[in-house]
Amino acid sequence: MSPAVLLTLSLLACGGPAPPDPEPIFEPPEQPNIVIILLDGLRYDRTHIGGNDLLTSPTLDVLAAQGVIFDLAFSTSNESLLSHSALFTGLYPTEIAYPDYKQFLLPEQALTLAEAMEAVGYETAAFVAGGHVKAHFGFSQGFGTFEEGEDFGSFATTARLASEWLARRQEDKPFFAFVHGYDLHRPYPKASVFFHPYWPKGRTDLDRSLRKRNFTEFVFDGVYYPNFQPTRLTHAAGDSMLDPGIYKALEAHAAASAASGEGKAVPLSPSDREHITAHYDASLLCADTYVGMLLDDIIARGLWDDTLIIATSDHGEDLGDHGYYNHRANITDSTTHVPLIISGGALPPALRGTRTSELTDAVDMVHTVMDMAGSVPPAGARGRSVWALLQGREPPPKDFVFQQGVLGHSSVRTPTHRLVFLGLALIDPGYARHMAEDPIDGGSFVLYHSAVDRLETRDVLADNLVLAEQLRNELVAWTISLEEGTERMQLSPELEEMLRERGYW
Ligand SMILES: [Zn+2]
Ligand SMILES: [Zn+2]
Repeated sequence: MSPAVLLTLSLLACGGPAPPDPEPIFEPPEQPNIVIILLDGLRYDRTHIGGNDLLTSPTLDVLAAQGVIFDLAFSTSNESLLSHSALFTGLYPTEIAYPDYKQFLLPEQALTLAEAMEAVGYETAAFVAGGHVKAHFGFSQGFGTFEEGEDFGSFATTARLASEWLARRQEDKPFFAFVHGYDLHRPYPKASVFFHPYWPKGRTDLDRSLRKRNFTEFVFDGVYYPNFQPTRLTHAAGDSMLDPGIYKALEAHAAASAASGEGKAVPLSPSDREHITAHYDASLLCADTYVGMLLDDIIARGLWDDTLIIATSDHGEDLGDHGYYNHRANITDSTTHVPLIISGGALPPALRGTRTSELTDAVDMVHTVMDMAGSVPPAGARGRSVWALLQGREPPPKDFVFQQGVLGHSSVRTPTHRLVFLGLALIDPGYARHMAEDPIDGGSFVLYHSAVDRLETRDVLADNLVLAEQLRNELVAWTISLEEGTERMQLSPELEEMLRERGYW
């Protein structure tokens, strides 16, 4: 019992003054509208709530002021396709599909969050900015409306598409909407007023380079290598994609160029680095502005009080951290620590303006959203409901977040530390054996004291061998549980019944 309740009871018992009139009782809707706003590539520490002094995200700030901030939220991978697949299924990448980047997609047999929400009576709609979140990678499953803006496009388009849909949707059902934008994805410079709001020094030669789509993929350790030739892959679904293996190739190119003294190498100055970060920050302002317009529209249509908003991302972005300007070369906080805000008019008043340091990650999303909808998640979905946590229902504790990167890096993150296993591809048959048997201090592992060393710049493994071994054991046990697991996404009896009623079989 809380001290406040005890105080009230003791006042009543001794005949003291009557307690003040209670607040009007808040009655949340049984099935609130739920909107996931996914700002692709947004790292936590570039948001104002995450410590950026600049007011780069006024809309997110307002959502946060009226909602709950999760200060320790993580993506499950460091790449859009793998991360979104985990978010939509509550499964880890290697459980979802064979983790070969040329073939990976969200398979038809996966039961997605949208399918489950449709089955429990929601009207479902998604507005995605192309790229790796398109229908042909499997993401349209379960969405009654699925609209794609231009490839790697902006909320300028997808928020407008969502507004147009709000004007014409069925009004007898609650809705589940997913709205996505690639504004924070390279190339970072944005048009018009979003070009240089955080860069007072005006245009430089770097601006010409930054307009090239892949410029930042040619930068390693602060040096631009214009002669580097990246390789591309053709995905089984037909898309041409940059090979994630280019980062190892770029490191080799940099080493060869340094050894021979030949080939062009153009160092970026500290000012250049600030300039690139200023463009990334401006990209957030751009995304945030159009998200704000969508929220205005939700309010103007009188939907706010019945709506929960979840704002988050699928990965972060190295901004020169760890040598790179991208999100796929490393599994670190810079590439996987993301904002998570739960807000909206349907949020109980007691939760507004609060923040929590409970650990959570993208595989919690299926549990969380189904719980918000007053329903149960599909059996087999991993994770736990943070909605239950906010309401004091005590879901299972979460002491570790596990992640699988597109280059084969696996990581375990605790509230204070991160251990990364480097080196092999996820499809390598010796993957789990190497993870279990390689000497902990032999070069395959890195340990960061993330709570103190927030940019994860210092490997502290040599000084913390006991902790490193403990975390390795957790990582191995988790990896083996995935390999041996026969558990696939299964229907709970309730959900199966609902799906059958709606003609899924
Ligand atoms: Zn992404
Ligand atoms: Zn510029």
